[in-house]
Amino acid sequence: MLTFKPTRTALVTGAGRGIGKSIAESLARQGVTVICVSKSADSCGATAAAIVAAGGKAKALAVDVSDGAAVAKACEQLLAEFPVIDILVNNAGITKDGLMFRMSDEDWNAVIQTNLSSAFFWTKHLARPMTKSRWGRIVNISSVSGIMGNAGQANYSAAKAGMIGLTKSLAKELASRTITVNAVAPGFIKTDMTTEFVNNTEVSSKILEAVPLKRFGEAHEIAAMTTFLCSEEAGYITGQVFAVDGGMAM
Ligand code: NAP
Repeated sequence: MLTFKPTRTALVTGAGRGIGKSIAESLARQGVTVICVSKSADSCGATAAAIVAAGGKAKALAVDVSDGAAVAKACEQLLAEFPVIDILVNNAGITKDGLMFRMSDEDWNAVIQTNLSSAFFWTKHLARPMTKSRWGRIVNISSVSGIMGNAGQANYSAAKAGMIGLTKSLAKELASRTITVNAVAPGFIKTDMTTEFVNNTEVSSKILEAVPLKRFGEAHEIAAMTTFLCSEEAGYITGQVFAVDGGMAM
């Protein structure tokens, strides 16, 4: 049983599908009001509608998280409505895989901007009111690729490793205001991002050779760790990276 004050508000990026949707729904089940952000209005709208239909509190907001000016504008509007957003989960992410010699500058920049710079943009704007209220939880969804590296994912691994550095630096900067900053590093989780691998028997059996628990993870298993890190009970944990990966990054 986890403790959440009934007044808590969270913002989850990439909440339209997969891991982000599961995190948004899990926080809502704890009584948290959840602002669901995704690129398309349809996808975050569907998550917010599902939360409300289940008796929770949610709002949908379509924002391109890779666009710093768009994030700044969204935060200004949100902070006029919610005096403080207590919980921030930086989850939105994309892949544009390819071996380095074939990776375009566009694919490098898109992945860094969407997966890493976005976390900086949201945190910069939303952490200030958290410092005033002297309470906050920030969780960055990194990846096992950011810990171990992965051939064909130089852009993605760099962004996800960057999130770990960001997490540790901000944990130190914000600790005096009782704001914790942690990272969760998923392994291979069954979502739209991994459908291609999971549904290919040859590729999936190769991947599972490297997973001691011999199965793919589920989005709710990432949501469970993230929800715990956002709870009152996790108040003495900051600057840490939690691999939820079936034992891959041991
Ligand atoms: P997913 O199913 O592909 O969903 C990605 C979500 O991010 C979608 O809601 C999407 O919005 C949103 N998004 C992407 N680009 C965006 C942008 N520019 N602006 C706003 N929203 C954007 O991915 P997932 O598998 O749930 O992954 C979630 C996070 O976990 C990612 O950061 C990913 O790197 C990380 N992760 C995943 C795995 C895995 O195995 N699945 C493993 C390690 C780490 P729309 O719905 O509007 O398209």
